[in-house]
Amino acid sequence: MSLGLHRNARLVINKQALFHNINTEQKRLAPGTEMFMVVKANGYGHGAVEVARVAKAAGATGFCVAILDEALELRAAGFTEPILVLGVTRPEDLPLAVQKDITTTLPSNEWLALAVQVLADHSLTDQLNVHIALDTGMGRIGFQSIDEMKAAIATVNEHSDLINIDGIFTHFSTADAKDLDYFHLQVNRFKRFMAALPSRPRYVHVSNSATSLWHQECNGNMIRFGVAGYGLNPSGTEIEPPYELQPAMSLVSEIVHCKQVAAGRSIGYGATYTANDRQWIGTVPIGYADGYQRALQNFHVLVNGQFCPIVGRVCMDQFMIRLPKPVPIGTKVTLVGQNGKNRISLESMAHFCDTIHYEVACLFQERLPRTYI
Ligand SMILES: *Cc1c(COP(=O)(O)O)cnc(C)c1O
Repeated sequence: MSLGLHRNARLVINKQALFHNINTEQKRLAPGTEMFMVVKANGYGHGAVEVARVAKAAGATGFCVAILDEALELRAAGFTEPILVLGVTRPEDLPLAVQKDITTTLPSNEWLALAVQVLADHSLTDQLNVHIALDTGMGRIGFQSIDEMKAAIATVNEHSDLINIDGIFTHFSTADAKDLDYFHLQVNRFKRFMAALPSRPRYVHVSNSATSLWHQECNGNMIRFGVAGYGLNPSGTEIEPPYELQPAMSLVSEIVHCKQVAAGRSIGYGATYTANDRQWIGTVPIGYADGYQRALQNFHVLVNGQFCPIVGRVCMDQFMIRLPKPVPIGTKVTLVGQNGKNRISLESMAHFCDTIHYEVACLFQERLPRTYI
């Protein structure tokens, strides 16, 4: 359900931009390398099902998500492609994963023992497909040593009626940085794991967007393409991408109230802003409950192609801006995206809030409806 059908605010998702980013990357891949589009967190706020449709048309042959429910959403929408859950799935939910043909991550031997117990207790007709996670330096989930990995493979071999190893992967923590020392350390650890592997599973993969953009030679036979598919540079502004990334998300609203205030009048909670002369003030009906953060006080939006500062604190559902001149109710306000000659990027918003565009995009809430163009 969309909670915001009757309001002057919406996320606009440009499907051509998504297609361009995903298809350009897909065409750069070596023959035999598959692209799994990462659509976790509701497609980084862009809408998982819509993004998955575009990604499929643009050449993606599978999907990655963070949690089982996100995989179930794709199955319910009719997708039959392989889906990999990147996070740790609760062992008790594995029968459901098997039933829906969803692949899970194998993060540890402790998890594997629990998984075997649960699967043995259910008489399932199919095996659980897993990808072994290797912790080569991310320090999040996965096997840290070759011995642990070998123990897991031995356990799976004893229970080959229940579990099948369909893939093996690692995740890099610095692939989006200029300094490559730590990246190479992880690559070398991964190579040592691979050399010790008795046989290669169907999928071998290491690449997030940054790795595939800048270290394609590492790709293996599948990539996990996320943020760059949405048109966002994984490095922020540190490294130029090899082709133009087109941001797919805009956020637009309208002026709902416009007035002139006298010098000395204050605006917003805490009266943190006081007009020092006669000023035109507009009200925009979006707030931090929509994911438009309070930290954006003093940032700007675009009205008629001009930057207008946010004055006073961002409220839960509204905020105020200073306008150069009066505008009618219904005048378009661009919070993210192009308006006239100027644009506001998620990246610049993130920089202002001292965070990253990944976070800004996925904070936008369900009550901001999404429209697709
Ligand atoms: C989120 C995630 C990705 C995608 O990363 P991007 O930087 O968005 O391309 C890939 N792999 C794993 C394990 C992830 O958690």
